[in-house]
Parts: sequence; structure tokens; C-alpha cells
Amino acid sequence: MHERKTLIVGNWKMHLNVHQSSLLVHRLNERIKTHRAIEVVLAPSMLSLQPLSLQIDRRKFKLAAQDAYFKDEGGYTGEVSFTMLGDLVEYAIVGHSARRLYFGETLETVRDKAAAAVRNGITPIICIGETKQEHDEGQSRQVIHDQLTTALMNLTSRDLDKVVLAYEPVWAISTFDGILAKPHEIDQAIKYIRTQLADLYGQRAAEKMLILYGGSVDDQDIRAYLEVPGVDGALVGAASLNYHQFAAMVDTAYQIRIRA
Ligand code: PEP
Repeated sequence: MHERKTLIVGNWKMHLNVHQSSLLVHRLNERIKTHRAIEVVLAPSMLSLQPLSLQIDRRKFKLAAQDAYFKDEGGYTGEVSFTMLGDLVEYAIVGHSARRLYFGETLETVRDKAAAAVRNGITPIICIGETKQEHDEGQSRQVIHDQLTTALMNLTSRDLDKVVLAYEPVWAISTFDGILAKPHEIDQAIKYIRTQLADLYGQRAAEKMLILYGGSVDDQDIRAYLEVPGVDGALVGAASLNYHQFAAMVDTAYQIRIRA
């Protein structure tokens, strides 16, 4: 099996102004050590990316945008492009369920954003996952299939080295239903995603792909989730705003890696 790194991503959503963001990075910097196999990624608001890019120790932290627009430039008032973010971030969250549900992002928008990120040298963290209703109606696999295949549609198999996936069942996210997913449910979904990847791009690409889990992950439950085979890290929302919890989560990831 290919040796994949572990990614712990903090999605700060629409929280923290520039000053508060800087303070949180300062606190995290005091607590988090650099680990070779672990990448710690922070996704603050768009406004904080520039100042934080000057503040962070880049050996310790990488930055991610929470979203960006798929056109590189033009008359798109209010938007920021992946091109503009090129110097600031290594990653960008794409297709987060909040974007899909609150801002009407379609499968095609997510596809175009994933391609725009890769085109601009930014690794998209593409979020996929079913809603509670889709889950209850037995639609999960179909939804995951459609989201996955469309999101990757305009990428080549070589581009896939520059893509990360995050399986985030919407019903498990703290700001939606916040129901804790059971490790075996995640196991099944991740296996399904890798099978789909193998069908589309071959076994090697499927084994190389980093797949994160997200949905109410905190310092208490992260171990169980990271121990699910095929889970390469966590996309953490609410708990990433608490530096004790976030640092503890990074530490747990480290413990698991050195034991492996
Ligand atoms: C998220 O926003 O991607 C997320 C998983 O949030 P939370 O950890 O708060 O459920």
C-alpha cells in the first residue's frame, strides 16, 4: 500500500476576525510540533489568509481557502479567484456542503472549481457526502458516485496527485444534524469511494488518493475515525477553533503514525 501522509485540516468557517485568527495561530504554534508525516492545514476566512501567510511557520502549517471562484479573472464582483490565491495557499476546500446547500453550488460548479484549483497549482480538498434525507432514503452511494465523478470530470489521472477528497456526511456535520457517524459507516463509504476511483482511474490512483473524514470530529473521537482503514486525516470544523482540542487532535494523529 502506498504510504500516504496524514492531513489534519481546520475549517474555521465564518468565525474569527483577523486579530482573533492571528491569536489562534499563535496559540497553535506554541502547542503543535512539526511531524514529517503529518500536515496541519488551516482554513481561515478569506480576509485572514494574507496576514496569516506572513505569520505562519510554513514547515508547521499550510493554509487553505474555504472557497474561491472558478474563473481566473473578470467582472465577477465580490469573488476571489484561485489565481489570486496562488501565492497564499496550498489547498482550497471545494464543494463543502455549506456551499452546496446554502449557496446553491451545483455538481458542475464544484467540477469547475476543482479544475480551477488544479490549474492554479492549488490542491482542492473536494468535499462529498450525502444529506440526512438522502441517507435515510438509501441514496448515499448514488449521491457519492455523482458528486465524485462530476467533481473529477475535468481532471486527468495525473492531476489526481494534486487532489484530496473529504467524505463528509452532511448529517454528521455539527452545524447540520451533528449525528456522530459510526466508524463502520465511514469504513463502508471510504471503501466505496476507493472502488469508484479504481474503476475510473485505476488501482494505483485509488490507493494514492488522500481521503479525509469530516463530521463533528473532536479530540475525543478523532482516534476512532483515524483508525478506520483508508482514512488519511480529518476535516475539522467547530473543534478546530479550540486550540487545546485542535492541538490534541494533531497529537493523536502523530501517536497513530508513530505506532503504525
Ligand atoms: C466541516 O465544516 O467540514 C465540519 C466537518 O464541521 P464540524 O467538524 O463542525 O462538524
